[in-house]
Amino acid sequence: MLTCADVVRLITDYTEGRLTPAERRRFEEHISICPPCRSFLDQMRKTVERLGELREEDVPPAMEQHLLDAFRDWSRNE
Ligand SMILES: [Zn+2]
Repeated sequence: MLTCADVVRLITDYTEGRLTPAERRRFEEHISICPPCRSFLDQMRKTVERLGELREEDVPPAMEQHLLDAFRDWSRNE
């Protein structure tokens, strides 16, 4: 099972279809059980639709921080 940090690391490759089928399956498994990662993926998809493509530097650092906070709150409520 992937961790949230793995999802953040792999998300660009995922949205661009560069993961192997096995990686992709594990990614989707995590997304299906992890609400913060699911909203992160939605956000990324909207960004890709808007820009037509996504580069690493398009992910605002503030958003990464926000995600880390979200993950922390979420696991605390577990
Ligand atoms: Zn997650």
